[in-house]
Amino acid sequence: MSKKVLLATDKPFSPGARDEVVGVLKNAKYEVVVLESYKSPADLHKAVADVDAMIIRSDKVDADVLAAAKNLKLVVRAGAGYDNVDCAKAKEKGVAVMNTPGQNSNAVAELAVGMMLYMARGKFDGKTGTELRGKSLGLHACGAVGRAVAAIGKGLGMTVRAFDPLLGADKIRAAGIEPLSSPEDLYKKSDYLSLHMPSNKETKGMVGKNLLSLLPKGATLVNTARAEVINEAELLAMLAERADLKYVTDVEPAAATQKELVEKVGARYYSTPKKMGAQTNEANVNAGMAAARQIVDFFERGVKDFIVNK
Ligand code: NAD
Repeated sequence: MSKKVLLATDKPFSPGARDEVVGVLKNAKYEVVVLESYKSPADLHKAVADVDAMIIRSDKVDADVLAAAKNLKLVVRAGAGYDNVDCAKAKEKGVAVMNTPGQNSNAVAELAVGMMLYMARGKFDGKTGTELRGKSLGLHACGAVGRAVAAIGKGLGMTVRAFDPLLGADKIRAAGIEPLSSPEDLYKKSDYLSLHMPSNKETKGMVGKNLLSLLPKGATLVNTARAEVINEAELLAMLAERADLKYVTDVEPAAATQKELVEKVGARYYSTPKKMGAQTNEANVNAGMAAARQIVDFFERGVKDFIVNK
């Protein structure tokens, strides 16, 4: 039976990527509704009312959205992190939630390394900067993005190490990265410390004074993961105490923290104006197409790979 799919993107895909995603679903003879840059949650509640599946990006799928969606069977987050979806509530209602792992990792990795270069060159202020070659790069979590950052870092002549307690040393070593057995050891040894863990109960606020104080002189903390993994009060305190530390992020801190970072940390701080790690045409196409194909596979062939709320 034909299905109805909602593509709900408050931050839209590039038009080319959106058309390709819609094309995959239409080829399967599905009806597609596109809701982009919507003004309020009420618009999303209305659009989701009678659909069988939805594709989202950073859009919030909370209990209200799930309550409004009477026919919903599948939510696909076109991207890696799914902390914007109430997975437990979805499970309770029999709605499967999937992500599209690995599809945008190169885009995020290029941004992470781009931000390292930007800070190494003093935000391109014309003064003498430093190089990444010969510096140490530490990856706190070593999933798809972490490994993509490692590959670029190695190409630039950096020494790459990682700590990822769930992945295991063998897998890290297989990716040509030196595994370390504690986060403390990693922070001590990293001129550039790049965060790549998901945001969840275990990781919330895990990066605080205990780890940041171990960073070597002149180190840069790079966050393309999530704002929540940082203990912001302790980050602010560390940046105040140590005038050598820098912080760059693609995931905006809370407003009060952001204000203090801009006013007090100034040149040692940079935030992208809007989360843009995955915002490349290539990543839009990869993640969007994977999401569309996963929906067709789920309904036509019962494929349940990538479900994250089993
Ligand atoms: P992934 O699932 O491939 O990798 C996540 C890694 O984190 C895994 O290897 C896992 O073992 C590790 N991990 C889990 N809990 C941990 C813990 N407590 N301590 C240390 N490591 C832990 O995901 P990914 O594609 O590499 O993406 C990583 C994160 O980056 C996402 O969850 C998302 O939050 C963020 N992200 C941001 C953007 C952006 O636009 N800035 C885009 C994509 C992903």
